Amino acid sequence: MSTNEPTPALAAGSQTAGGGSRFTPDFRVGLGYDIHRTGNPLQGARAMVLGGVAIQGAPAIIAHSDGDALCHAVTDAILGALALPDIGQLFPDTDPKYRGADSRTFLEAAVAKAASMGYRVVNVDATVILERPKLSPQKEAVRASLAGMLGVEASRVNVKGKTHETLDALGRGEGVEVHAVVLMMRG
Ligand SMILES: [Zn+2]
Repeated sequence: MSTNEPTPALAAGSQTAGGGSRFTPDFRVGLGYDIHRTGNPLQGARAMVLGGVAIQGAPAIIAHSDGDALCHAVTDAILGALALPDIGQLFPDTDPKYRGADSRTFLEAAVAKAASMGYRVVNVDATVILERPKLSPQKEAVRASLAGMLGVEASRVNVKGKTHETLDALGRGEGVEVHAVVLMMRG
């Protein structure tokens, strides 16, 4: 192929000579973020769950639902990609029915909503910022759990564990923070 020829991918999304679109790939990217404080289990903090997996040796989390920051961030990324109301609007933490809720239901609801609009997940990349414990021993379990909820192979889901290098509140172990990016595709 000469350098002047378009790649097949670009050609597929290009305009025809008459100006009409032959095929426009419909991709949507979404960004999700969540943070939860750690706290004392004797004062109502809950065992830390990330992506539906209980994290061994992690501090307890203060939250209205189960406080699964990874599920919440990925849910918001999906909803954001499709310009839908966010997780706080759909599942308000002022509603008693979501007290202690299993956040997998939020993520599965977002995936179902996306499917009803014709969209599916292409891939997810997430970063979990947690001072301790190291996420690595449970990373594959978290990844597999997330992939199952998203209805994709684990190879389409990435979960990276980072510390906050002892800096600020996260660095003192006072919370867990998650950033997530999702790519959605129609069809
Ligand atoms: Zn949350």
